[in-house]
Amino acid sequence: MKFCSLYSGSTGNSLFVQGNETKILVDAGVSAKKVVEGLSSIDVDINDINAIIVTHEHIDHIRSIGTLAKKYNIPVYASLGTWNGIENEKSVVNIENKNYFKVGEEIEIGDLKIKSFSTSHDAMDSCGFSIKNDDKKISIATDLGEMTKEVIENLKSSKFVLLESNYDPEVLRCCSYPYSVKTRIAGIRGHLSNNEAGKTISQLIKYGLGNVMLGHLSKESNFPELAYKSVVNELVQSGMKEKEIELGVASRFEPSKVVNI
Ligand SMILES: [Zn+2]
Ligand SMILES: [Zn+2]
Repeated sequence: MKFCSLYSGSTGNSLFVQGNETKILVDAGVSAKKVVEGLSSIDVDINDINAIIVTHEHIDHIRSIGTLAKKYNIPVYASLGTWNGIENEKSVVNIENKNYFKVGEEIEIGDLKIKSFSTSHDAMDSCGFSIKNDDKKISIATDLGEMTKEVIENLKSSKFVLLESNYDPEVLRCCSYPYSVKTRIAGIRGHLSNNEAGKTISQLIKYGLGNVMLGHLSKESNFPELAYKSVVNELVQSGMKEKEIELGVASRFEPSKVVNI
């Protein structure tokens, strides 16, 4: 399997996943032009994308799903709740390309088996995904205010995880966001902190996790070096060595390296 974070962060998200034959995007929260550019920088043609799967209706995840679906005739998959949320956002996907899944169920797109799981977030029906191809499994979990048992269960036995590491509590406290935004980010239906990401990773290493990319970093209340350091600190505190896992940080501005699983 291949994975690339095209763009990841509170300003816009789009992730690329490839199986033996199938190529999909998880979210398209930047402009269509940026998605096309990001893909071509890793030698993928937008016309070869088989589907877009959507985590939830926030604009940093759906900005160009309508344009991409229409222009390149790409099927879009989302839960019923998320579709309702998307319509409230006045974003339109042509009916022929609208597909539904129920959060918790597994769907198949080409040679990818995709299992969605609920996340605790202030959206209608938000979810993360575990994606399998042959015996390999990778998972994506962003936009979650707390790490629940359900999410952990779904992330277990992943070889690779793109995990939210949104904010540092101290930087959040001191940053320029209004109080209401700070409360939302740190709340149980908001986002995951660096420390919580680190604790999650230390649990998952026991279940075969070998490669992690931290993603969806907040613009004002985090920065890549801090997210990385905080996670390493958590791992060391749990008695692990830094080298036990490959750890990277996804950029909000440019595609990551392509991870081969
Ligand atoms: Zn969100
Ligand atoms: Zn988001």
